[in-house]
Amino acid sequence: MKQFISKIISNERIAKEQYSMVLDAAGMSEKATPGQFVHVRCGHDADPLLRRPFSIYRVRDVGGQKAIEIIYKIVGRGTALLAKKRPGDPIDVLGPLGNGFNINNPSITFIVAGGIGAAACYMLAEELVKKKCKIYYFFGARSKDYVICEEDFRALGCEIHICTDDGSSGHKKLIPDHLTDIIKEIPKAELSTAEIYACGPMIMLKKTAEAAEKAKIRCQMSLEARMGCGVGACMSCVVKCKQGDSFMYKRVCKYGPVLNASEIIWE
Ligand SMILES: Cc1cc2nc3c(=O)[nH]c(=O)nc-3n(C[C@H](O)[C@H](O)[C@H](O)COP(=O)(O)OP(=O)(O)OC[C@H]3O[C@@H](n4cnc5c(N)ncnc54)[C@H](O)[C@@H]3O)c2cc1C
Repeated sequence: MKQFISKIISNERIAKEQYSMVLDAAGMSEKATPGQFVHVRCGHDADPLLRRPFSIYRVRDVGGQKAIEIIYKIVGRGTALLAKKRPGDPIDVLGPLGNGFNINNPSITFIVAGGIGAAACYMLAEELVKKKCKIYYFFGARSKDYVICEEDFRALGCEIHICTDDGSSGHKKLIPDHLTDIIKEIPKAELSTAEIYACGPMIMLKKTAEAAEKAKIRCQMSLEARMGCGVGACMSCVVKCKQGDSFMYKRVCKYGPVLNASEIIWE
């Protein structure tokens, strides 16, 4: 983990309320693994005081230099300030942080991304492609205006399944339900080493965990808990997890953000 003042290479709108920001990331990009995040100071100085966490979408080569790309959605003050930044502006970044996805050797994988959750999944898909594994990519959004990154995942060779709440793109269905339907079409033997990876809103993650349990498929998920310090000190991002017959609180920033779905206590 390293704190540095990076330079913004580009900051462009990619869909409704959503932006892609590419940062010069010398010294950080080669250490980043799928599912890790950066903690970003969104203002010019110490206002807002708390950094905001963003998944590392991918590492890119820009003019022979390594850069990292984040994808973000404007939801409040910090992300609104981020959208105002221009190429060449400095930006204070801490990272890479957290423990990302544990990539075994699955034959088939199901990546389930809800909205901006897609940001945590691209580097993962890149790694899975290197392992020559079949990837089903499920993406859910409110409507076609919110669909992001589809072409990036398609270019990797993923089988794309889009679901929208209003049916304006893909299926008019919730993604965990569509996931269940697709799993049913695959012969059981092929699913023995399958894995599900997910990132998105908590309700989508909960339903995906239930679908995974029913289908007896291992499932890891990246949690977007509200985060303070990002380095395990402030305890603001804890999530209730199973521990034997009891429970414990795990810090998403330090222990995660990726956890096994089976260890989370959904409330
Ligand atoms: C590990 C991790 C990775 C993340 N990766 C991304 C990413 O790649 N792209 C992206 O757009 N967002 C990501 N998020 C969520 C992002 O950090 C928040 O949306 C951001 O901090 C909001 O800041 P704000 O100042 O704009 O909003 P605030 O003013 O702080 O909050 C505005 C609204 O956003 C909601 N919100 C705030 N923080 C979070 C959060 N952590 N998760 C969900 N909702 C939140 C609040 O409930 C509130 O309704 C990630 C979160 C975590 C923990």
